[in-house]
Amino acid sequence: MRNEGTGSWPHRRFRLSPEKVAMSFRDRRITYRDLDDRVTRLAHALRELGVGRGDRVALLSANHPAYLEALFASGLLGAIFVPLNARLTAPEVEFALRDSGASVLIHSQELTEIARASSGSATRVVMRDGDSPADAVGYEDLIASADTARIDEPVSHDDPCFIMYTSGTTGRPKGVVLTHGNIVFSVMNAVIDLDLTSDETALVCAPLFHTAALDFVALPTLLKGGTVVIEEGFEPGRALRALERERITYTFGVPTMFDALSSHPDWASTDLSAIRRVIVAAAPVPPRTLRTYAERGIKICQGYGLTETGPGALILTPDDVERKRGTAGVPHFFTDVRVVDEDGREVAPGERGEIQICGPNVMREYWNRPDATADAFTDGRWFRSGDVGLPDEDGFVTIVDRLKDMIISGGENVYPAEIEAVLLEMPGVASCAVFGIRDEKWGEVGCAAVSLDDGHALTHEQVVEYLGERLAKYKIPKSLLVLDEIPRNATGKIRKSELRRLHAR
Ligand code: AMP
Repeated sequence: MRNEGTGSWPHRRFRLSPEKVAMSFRDRRITYRDLDDRVTRLAHALRELGVGRGDRVALLSANHPAYLEALFASGLLGAIFVPLNARLTAPEVEFALRDSGASVLIHSQELTEIARASSGSATRVVMRDGDSPADAVGYEDLIASADTARIDEPVSHDDPCFIMYTSGTTGRPKGVVLTHGNIVFSVMNAVIDLDLTSDETALVCAPLFHTAALDFVALPTLLKGGTVVIEEGFEPGRALRALERERITYTFGVPTMFDALSSHPDWASTDLSAIRRVIVAAAPVPPRTLRTYAERGIKICQGYGLTETGPGALILTPDDVERKRGTAGVPHFFTDVRVVDEDGREVAPGERGEIQICGPNVMREYWNRPDATADAFTDGRWFRSGDVGLPDEDGFVTIVDRLKDMIISGGENVYPAEIEAVLLEMPGVASCAVFGIRDEKWGEVGCAAVSLDDGHALTHEQVVEYLGERLAKYKIPKSLLVLDEIPRNATGKIRKSELRRLHAR
């Protein structure tokens, strides 16, 4: 078997430009040589912890270079990397660790409490300077004391590289399995369609546990030999300073991030002249966002995709930004997209239909969920996005609606089914429904409607407290509607449009 996956290309790349800065984080500058050395050592250390081919290595942290180091080190061993959303609560992390069967959990010092409560039998590796705590292994200690001999595990394009958790309309989060081949094609899609060069300095302030920051920004930039500037998280003032100071040429963000930058007091005075293009995706993009950036001469390319498609499916390339503003563009270079009606026939230009995707970047399966995998595809190979698109006569697709029950709040996906399942367990709740309402700042926010058992009363504060112990903060509904009965149609399906109407009153 040829060693041709993500497990090996990084090492070839690292050795092409050893002196160049690969990543910068706070005041650290990590050259490609350092990265090569640290990744090799980490792989040896993980192997010492018992990690081998097919084993799962999870990571729970705010953005940090360890994401890339652990991804590459896992890849070198043929192991599978499981990045976790740093905003999850302990029960949610526990679910992902149990579901993926991760044997190692690497986590930041700040998230120790959650890691301790959720890790079960997994070995904990804590990212911190100084001595290791008694009940965990220190990340830097592991790297410092490990072997440096080259590792050459054969890794093929068909081997799984990541498992990424996404919730879903079925309530329980599902692990999206992306192979090394999926990742390589996703990364090449970005390199080709965005014309990335070795001179790129890319800013990552979107979360690295999501495919977009990894496959659109960090990995393509490293593949080309550029520099990735990692911010721990998104803070508009800090991001603006980084854009100017580092002469950032490229970045990715969700619409609320770009809006927060352009409404910051330092926006007008920040030098953004090094930017060649930026990608905005993950949620409906307000036209005013596109206009604001266009007015500053910044090419703002709308992308569209899902975790399951690694993520890129559609992209408005820099050349088309002006002529096709507002659309999410055309299929990525290696990817096919079709827009179909309910009978599976491609719609004519100007008509709406479901966006379906196929290509070498599309996931193989949901981890251990054959039924969900089978449901996700149609005609054998087309992934059903659950999003509604409208193609124009040139094949440029505008994202117009959603078939699936999902709320996108500030770029984070919130699945009502997941929240409803937890809320139904709350004492006094007889029936419930969670639905999205429009919000100027976040795009959408969630609202909960409940009907109660006799003699019970419920406040929004009580709901926030109950859900807050069980679900990440961004999933908690922002308001509560107490009703005698949840409106349903003849087949028992909740009428969410009616709930939205009741909420607006
Ligand atoms: P995720 O799996 O977290 O990447 O979320 C995927 C979902 O984000 C898609 O199914 C869409 O509903 C939404 N999405 C992604 N890009 C866009 C876009 N450009 N416009 C509207 N919605 C988008």
